[in-house]
Amino acid sequence: MITASPNPRLSPPAVDWRELWRDAVTDGRELLALLGLQHLAGQLPAADAGFPLRVPRGFVARMRPGDAGDPLLLQVLPQLAEFARVPGFVTDAVGDMDSRAARGVLHKYEGRALLLASGSCAINCRYCFRRHFPYGEEMAAAGQWRQALEHLRQDDSINEVILSGGDPLALSTGKLEELTRGLAGLSHVTRLRIHSRLPVVLPQRIDAALLAWLGGLPWQKVLVLHANHANELDASVAEACTRLREAGVTVLNQSVLLRGINDNVDALQQLSERLFAVGAMPYYLHQLDRVQGAAHFEVDDAEARELMARLRARLPGYLVPKLVRELAGDPSKRPL
Ligand SMILES: *Cc1c(COP(=O)(O)O)cnc(C)c1O
Ligand code: SF4
Repeated sequence: MITASPNPRLSPPAVDWRELWRDAVTDGRELLALLGLQHLAGQLPAADAGFPLRVPRGFVARMRPGDAGDPLLLQVLPQLAEFARVPGFVTDAVGDMDSRAARGVLHKYEGRALLLASGSCAINCRYCFRRHFPYGEEMAAAGQWRQALEHLRQDDSINEVILSGGDPLALSTGKLEELTRGLAGLSHVTRLRIHSRLPVVLPQRIDAALLAWLGGLPWQKVLVLHANHANELDASVAEACTRLREAGVTVLNQSVLLRGINDNVDALQQLSERLFAVGAMPYYLHQLDRVQGAAHFEVDDAEARELMARLRARLPGYLVPKLVRELAGDPSKRPL
């Protein structure tokens, strides 16, 4: 918990993000009670399908009390529908297990290699492929970068290194420094990209130490956020994005098209406009990875294309994300 400063004349220390991480809500009943929805506790699944509830309190604070259909709540609340077995929805939906180039490296696309920098996330998103991926074995954990770095060193076609996971910003800043020191000697690498949901779900992670690390990196830097709904983007997220931009980082966003959460043109329009207002450019709108337990979130392709046509009619071109699907074996994300 947050402790008060012992001397009231001193301003209290900034809240450490690790405290907030540990203080996340992990109990469905507590989450529902915080939102005045305790009468729905009986609908919670008895088991967690191997993927527990986890959501930082700051994200809960952006949910609308009393609204069982809140678009942020639906992203994190376990549902009985997750136990349905639907044909075509599998545990390794995007072929990750076939694209391992070395321990902790996924190298699917030309020029870009993705490092599984951390298996942890501050939030557990119910639609995520991570529900099943064996990160415990695969992530290039602390002190085990050697093989991954060796792969990057030997392939000089790789000009962009992507830190992903899990959430790479779950690593301590010291560990991130260690990792990028290992990359520093690779002259073919010109860009570093970070895929992280932390600036949205726990914006306190963008602290002075992290910004100092980012500011000192020798590459062009891109951070791809992950927000699915405008309500996720409050003032604390806007501040985190401003600081990232001040550190020389290009900030983009990827979203997943989710049934009942953002599958209408108003929600998508508001998301794009709010992203631009906080300083992030819409990049991808992903069709759901067909992962076991997430079928109830799927929007079919015809409906997705129709939504995109209506969105294009409402927004300037630069605020329209690319609708894509990731399919095992493809040379890139596939535009729809
Ligand atoms: C999505 C992905 C990338 C990045 O693709 P972009 O189209 O460049 O955003 C890179 N590597 C892997 C393994 C991916 O899944
Ligand atoms: S990897 Fe991203 S989408 Fe998946 S649980 Fe973590 S934060 Fe959510």
